[in-house]
Amino acid sequence: MNKEKIAVIGGGVMGRGIALQLAMFNYSVLLIDNQDNALQQAKKHIPDDLRLAKMMLPSLREKQIEKILEAITFTRNISAVKEAGMIIENIPENWELKRSLYHQLDTLVRKDSIIAINTSCIPITQIAGCLSVPGRVVGAHFMNPVPLKEIVEIVKGYHTTDMTIDRLKYFLATIGKKSIIVNDVPGFVANRLSHLFMNEAAFLIQDQVATAADIDLMFTKGYGHTMGPLATADLIGLDTVVNSLEILYNNFQDPKFRCCPLLKKMVHAGLLGRKSGYGFYKY
Ligand code: NAD
Repeated sequence: MNKEKIAVIGGGVMGRGIALQLAMFNYSVLLIDNQDNALQQAKKHIPDDLRLAKMMLPSLREKQIEKILEAITFTRNISAVKEAGMIIENIPENWELKRSLYHQLDTLVRKDSIIAINTSCIPITQIAGCLSVPGRVVGAHFMNPVPLKEIVEIVKGYHTTDMTIDRLKYFLATIGKKSIIVNDVPGFVANRLSHLFMNEAAFLIQDQVATAADIDLMFTKGYGHTMGPLATADLIGLDTVVNSLEILYNNFQDPKFRCCPLLKKMVHAGLLGRKSGYGFYKY
């Protein structure tokens, strides 16, 4: 077991994937969520996520679920971040929630900890403004599902130091991830591009141009992508996609990011994609 403890805040889609990835690579993990139900769901889903990862990545065959679960402490206690040398935050893509958490974290984090933010679109510099140690704040945009995706986007905020970037890059290599380093703009590289595809695909459904399956087929068979934009939106969570588009729109003030009304309607109706069992597809 590696000595350094890693705190993962938020135990939803991304937090539980990151906790699993860390535990698979022998880190001791504190998975912190403010909802008991989310912690229970994470406990329930992590074994399934590991089974899927083992099927796709034969190198993981030896990994035993009991050992992995033993490495993860599930807790509601945010003060536990004091024990961690690295904090990876994954709470919802909502500025007010993030702001309130970061004001709280400022009084709790150790002076030597790195604070890695797994946001889809919120600028890292904006979040770093809530903390008195902005040099140690950095974006770590993981891809979903975490164990299956090899790359992480490291985002350099205005104040992020080179030492913070180097520490994060090294740390990511220890959990089997390659990284690219990008500058801080809303949506960074991955989501500034992908959300345009997902949003426009939703407009195609709204305009009744084609079915979801056919739109996605153009991407998988036509462009050679592993998944189409609508299956990707369902995987991410339509609530997260809508929040991200709103952040992109508000930051750039560019109409190309205006959120498709159908996406909003689906979220209002509780159709959030895979996590609710229904989105552009049924699960
Ligand atoms: P999610 O809604 O599945 O999970 C968020 C979790 O955070 C929930 O379990 C919630 O109970 C918990 N939470 C809320 N407030 C909290 C607080 N103050 N303290 C502790 N826990 C709290 O969201 P997600 O899809 O995992 O996304 C998390 C972040 O990762 C977002 O910023 C999102 O944009 C980003 N992201 C998502 C994806 C994706 O594919 N879903 C990919 C990359 C990045």
